Amino acid sequence: MKPNFEKGGGLLSVILQDYRTKQVLMNGFMNEEAYLKTLENEVVWFYSRTKERLWKKGETSGHVQAVKDMALDCDQDALLIQVDPKGPTCHLGTQSCFGDEFFNLQMLEKIVDQKIENPQQGSYTKYLTDEGIDKILKKCGEETTEVVIAAKNNDQKELINETSDLLYHLLVLLKNQGVSLKDVETTLEERHGENLSYKVRGEIKEW
Ligand code: AMP
Ligand code: ZN
Ligand code: ZN
Ligand code: ZN
Repeated sequence: MKPNFEKGGGLLSVILQDYRTKQVLMNGFMNEEAYLKTLENEVVWFYSRTKERLWKKGETSGHVQAVKDMALDCDQDALLIQVDPKGPTCHLGTQSCFGDEFFNLQMLEKIVDQKIENPQQGSYTKYLTDEGIDKILKKCGEETTEVVIAAKNNDQKELINETSDLLYHLLVLLKNQGVSLKDVETTLEERHGENLSYKVRGEIKEW
């Protein structure tokens, strides 16, 4: 399936979404040339309506958007692109042009990854991973027990706090074992026999 550029007067509306966290990052426009360049280069190109020229997102900031997946909408006049952003997508410095009031477990997973790969002085996550698997397992055990106790005491506030502790430590454990939340989601998805993630509607398989 090909995009319909005519409907938008030669322009296709394009939404960028973080492929891991699913945060909606920005809206832009592509003419056919920008679309073809995007397919060819596997990074996002737009048509700038103000500058009236092709524009590689990140051409000056370096914050290019690597294409992971694409889906046309029902009538082919809008394109959703799953991207791996190489820095804040908005030129105002936020991850998203729609503001950064967004959080989910994938976001936490990404933060854990960053804390291990680019450790700051005094990082607890770095300390845990340096200590090794036994330390991480001990913490997971402790936090599990604390979750159990909070539930036994019917203490909702404590249950929320301890579940937060446990989920964080589980993410550190998964990272240590080379497993991602996506892997877990895939298994859950299979168990339920449904596809929870976006399916590519149009067949954009040229790249
Ligand atoms: P960049 O493509 O990130 O190198 O940014 C180059 C220029 O494009 C910026 O100075 C802005 O004028 C514009 N720009 C970049 N990102 C956005 C955005 N998310 N929304 C609107 N304009 C943008
Ligand atoms: Zn549409
Ligand atoms: Zn912006
Ligand atoms: Zn705890």
